[in-house]
Amino acid sequence: MATIGFIGLGNMGGPMARNLAKAGHAVKGFDLAPAALEAARAGGVETVDSAELAARGVEAVFTMLPAGPQVRSVYGGPDGASGLLAAADRGTLFLDCSTIDVDSARAVHAAAEAAGHLMVDAPVSGGVAGAEAASLTLMVGGSEAAFARAEPLLQAVGKKAIHAGGAGNGQVAKACNNMMLGICMLATCEAFTLAEKQGLEPKVLFDIASAASGMNWAMLNHHPLPGIVETAASNRDYKPGFAAAMMHKDLKLSQAAAASAGVATPLGAEAAQLYTLFVNGGHGDLDYSAIVKLIRGEG
Ligand code: NAD
Repeated sequence: MATIGFIGLGNMGGPMARNLAKAGHAVKGFDLAPAALEAARAGGVETVDSAELAARGVEAVFTMLPAGPQVRSVYGGPDGASGLLAAADRGTLFLDCSTIDVDSARAVHAAAEAAGHLMVDAPVSGGVAGAEAASLTLMVGGSEAAFARAEPLLQAVGKKAIHAGGAGNGQVAKACNNMMLGICMLATCEAFTLAEKQGLEPKVLFDIASAASGMNWAMLNHHPLPGIVETAASNRDYKPGFAAAMMHKDLKLSQAAAASAGVATPLGAEAAQLYTLFVNGGHGDLDYSAIVKLIRGEG
């Protein structure tokens, strides 16, 4: 069993740290929020007074933070030369499970390697329910050696860890996957709105499209209209699920990655714009399938 530091004990990081402790690892956790520290202690995590203390003398350091700027500043400290990378023993394994921009992921990878550490970026899919149940899917970027060391630890927080290639490729996979999901959701919303206005029952279109070439995962699992897919958030007043604000964040990350690589993603750009409108309209807390309201002209 390993000794592990864990920084960022929020909605996702909290249950992940508790699952590592439950699996028998010794976990030292840190968060800026007192309530997050208290919940972690109740779940068997030893809490410490700074990120650096969590990274000192451990074999591996997890981070689960909001976005790229927080990861960069926690890794490098306010001056870029302190923080986790300086505090950890040489050869420590860093696992960043946050969803962040590809450029930041590659920058912290380079800094970690320059400091003599190993690193993987390992963003997750599965949401808070998946974090609680230790059933997350992890998309992992980093060297073969880093992945080999990371995999047994990732098994304590998820059901599947897929090696996506070198540094930053986990974030590339997450951005591309969620860009496809956002586009498919919007395509589903448009098609079902058009069908209804033309007098075709949504359930009939669902039965046809499920057996035809319009079939897609968003339609089958997260149908935006109630009464069609039992488990969909549309049947629970669009309580997430996967919040529209999260989809918005991920679409913006996909657009940052596209700009950085000089790739045109016009449908991804349009999806990002539509979610910006929806979230700025005050609907960020609803499930991402609620964007059907915007398409239907309801809000
Ligand atoms: P959250 O806001 O609940 O948790 C983030 C935690 O980081 C907070 O507790 C905050 O206090 C802490 N934090 C921020 N800056 C810090 C610092 N400098 N030092 C120490 N702690 C600090 O967010 P979350 O929902 O747990 O999401 C975390 C990451 O996981 C994000 O990148 C998000 O995009 C990603 N993600 C979230 C979900 C989801 O459903 N919530 C799903 C997949 C991926």
